Amino acid sequence: MQYLIDHEKKSIHRTTYANDRCNFHKTDVKEREFTHNMGYIEKLKIVEKYKECEHCNLLSAKPI
Ligand SMILES: [Zn+2]
Repeated sequence: MQYLIDHEKKSIHRTTYANDRCNFHKTDVKEREFTHNMGYIEKLKIVEKYKECEHCNLLSAKPI
């Protein structure tokens, strides 16, 4: 699973499920970061209070 971090809005998206409602397209490219690093994601959520995007995370929560 690859994640897209939006540092401007402090939100975390799952690239597989990201869609137009995620609204990161307006964020400057240099404020966006791609990562596979779960430890980094967890740190951003806990330490930096980043939020997981509800649009792509709801989709990913569905059973396959
Ligand atoms: Zn999203």
